[in-house]
Amino acid sequence: MLITSLLTKKRDGHALTDDEIRFLVDGFCQGAVADAQMAAWAMAVCIRSMDDRETTTLTTAMLESGERLSRAVSRDQPRVDKHSTGGLGDKVSLILAPLLAACDVQVPMISGRGLGITGGTLDKLESIEGLRTDLSSAEADRILQQVGSFIMGANQQIAPADRRLYALRDVTGTVESVPLITASILSKKLAANLDALVLDVKTGSGAFMQREADAIELAESLVRIGGAAGLPTLALLTDMDQPLGWGVGNAIEVNEAVEVLQGGSGAVRELTIELGASLLTQVGVEASLEAARQRLTRSLDGGAALERFERLVQLQGGRLKTPLPLAPAEEITADRDGFLVRYDCRTLGEVVVELGGGRRQLQDRIDHRVGLHVFHRIGDRITAGEPLVRLHGGTAASGQFIAKIRGAISIADEAVDPPPLILRRLNENGGA
Ligand code: URA
Repeated sequence: MLITSLLTKKRDGHALTDDEIRFLVDGFCQGAVADAQMAAWAMAVCIRSMDDRETTTLTTAMLESGERLSRAVSRDQPRVDKHSTGGLGDKVSLILAPLLAACDVQVPMISGRGLGITGGTLDKLESIEGLRTDLSSAEADRILQQVGSFIMGANQQIAPADRRLYALRDVTGTVESVPLITASILSKKLAANLDALVLDVKTGSGAFMQREADAIELAESLVRIGGAAGLPTLALLTDMDQPLGWGVGNAIEVNEAVEVLQGGSGAVRELTIELGASLLTQVGVEASLEAARQRLTRSLDGGAALERFERLVQLQGGRLKTPLPLAPAEEITADRDGFLVRYDCRTLGEVVVELGGGRRQLQDRIDHRVGLHVFHRIGDRITAGEPLVRLHGGTAASGQFIAKIRGAISIADEAVDPPPLILRRLNENGGA
């Protein structure tokens, strides 16, 4: 097969055969397809797209470029996982993994790092002294059998084709393609050998997909291709027009997650329970969403989920002493009475990145102690002088950041309705 003829075929808008896609992925992994050729193909896909068959084949070819986690133990419980497209203050994974483990399902969670304004679960967890996320497959399996969950990064054995292709896409303007994103996310999830997956696809000013129509397109693609690749997948479309919960950063999000694991209430708990209920019913551990919600609520309020989290942290080498320390803080107060009507999540996220709480480049080091404590949700009545945000910026925080945060929060005379947290549920037929 001539590599250039495959590139021109896609450039001219034709679908590649399964053999041609596998030839490209295998050749890329073995060095026969050059980075420039793979990047040209990715750009052609961005412009011409791929149909579902091509996307499914790409997904499985990237999966098969590496290993699948073993399921050797015959008494295995059902295995599930959640993937979020990322947003401000999204610490759900830290709670959901131990919570589901406490409900008799296993959660082998392969997570990512933060890049840009959306934080990463691995960075958040690494706020805990000593905690390791670079587990070998054998270590991960042992922890899974002991606690029912682990949270680790994708190692060299997990979908290596995706790792290399993602690095190329990142520097060639080819991240924003629904089929490429779909194959990238699902190849890593399929490697965990799951029985069910739920997706939290976010839309709004702090989301990867800001427009709702784009988020729906991605959610539908993930659900369809997940199913076609043999992994039953559902999706929730959720709001990211305001931070999820009160903490935005790394250590501060661990502190909030622990508060929820201790029975705390709010949007983070609500979303965690909904995603968990979806998974428990998907694998038949509970017969209805309502029964699943009740079981998850009992595990949170009774301390079983917190106990799993503490064991997971300990087995991954961490020494958990909460609350984790944060950078020195300064409060930003309201300069008028009114109602909170809008957050510009992108700007709030940029402040955290600029303070060192996130990355501009993959190799950047993170300051885990910086972050924001957000006191209000959209629709709240505000009185002049009361705190809006506590900025844990340390010595780096300056008036410039305070002005940016102020400009990212709008207070108006007229009240608005709080936006719903869950906008839509999607299954293979597109509906709830
Ligand atoms: N996250 C991934 O894992 N891959 C993408 O392509 C985009 C987001």
